[in-house]
Amino acid sequence: MKNQKMRILVIVCIVIGILAGVVGMISILRVQNATKNILSESRKAASSASVSKAEVTNTPTPAVTAKPTAVPTATPTVQATPTADPALIAATAPTQEATPVPTETPQPMTSTGNGHIIAVDAGHQGQGNREQEPIGPGASETKAKVASGTSGRTTGVPEYQLNLDVSLKLRDELQNRGYQVVMIRETNDVNISNAERAEIANNSGAEIFLRIHANGSDDTDISGALTMAPSSSNPYVGGMASSCQHLSECVVNSYCAATGFPNLGVQNPDNMSGINWCRIPVTIVEMGFMTNANDDTSMQDQAMQYRMAAGIADGVDAYFAS
Ligand SMILES: [Zn+2]
Repeated sequence: MKNQKMRILVIVCIVIGILAGVVGMISILRVQNATKNILSESRKAASSASVSKAEVTNTPTPAVTAKPTAVPTATPTVQATPTADPALIAATAPTQEATPVPTETPQPMTSTGNGHIIAVDAGHQGQGNREQEPIGPGASETKAKVASGTSGRTTGVPEYQLNLDVSLKLRDELQNRGYQVVMIRETNDVNISNAERAEIANNSGAEIFLRIHANGSDDTDISGALTMAPSSSNPYVGGMASSCQHLSECVVNSYCAATGFPNLGVQNPDNMSGINWCRIPVTIVEMGFMTNANDDTSMQDQAMQYRMAAGIADGVDAYFAS
């Protein structure tokens, strides 16, 4: 009887031992797998040359910022009263931003701006990317993922820097007017293709997409601003042509009114990847010609940059008002 008990005890111990061993093996395998994944992720990220170290663990994500910064607005005429406590806008998630706010009940501090979300892309980046991508969904024609852009013939400032400087002011101006802004980039040290920029905007919850650029031409006399929208026969986004056209007209007219730049109207190219991959109304703003001495120097003037940003924001207001 005692022997019997001992035997059972020994068998139970052995079984427990085996189970413990199996569980141990499984967790070791899991840890190895996870390590392998982390390693391959970081190797993948590290291979993307111009992505900074701080960004290698993340795929490019838009910076959703709703906090007005301390940058002063030089043009008092365009100042709009924020409808909410800025600190609260900052603390509110994008999906909640869209919730309409009851105006009659003085519910303290749940207000979330004017309910519109705008995506802003400062065109180009510190280093262009000559790898190719289709110019639209299913297209056989390809273009560089990110062209390197133009530069100031007089000032020497690269286009990507001007685009960023104005886009950051535009972000602040839109936020001051109660918009929520999704920034595709807030630094030059990124590597995001034009198709990827469109995808980020598509998935951001934004209603419209503003792509901020400056122009260049062999003819240094050419001066002024224009916007771009797809034509109605665009095979990828022809269905949005009229809203893109409307947005483009609102923006170029307001921009030129605010800055005094010659108004070159709306152009309709159909080979722009950053338009063709969009699923929300989009416009490309060509703010002026960096190859023209007057445009170039005036676009580097800080007060002018605030007017440029305010003018684009006026166009956004006009778009939603009509
Ligand atoms: Zn450009």
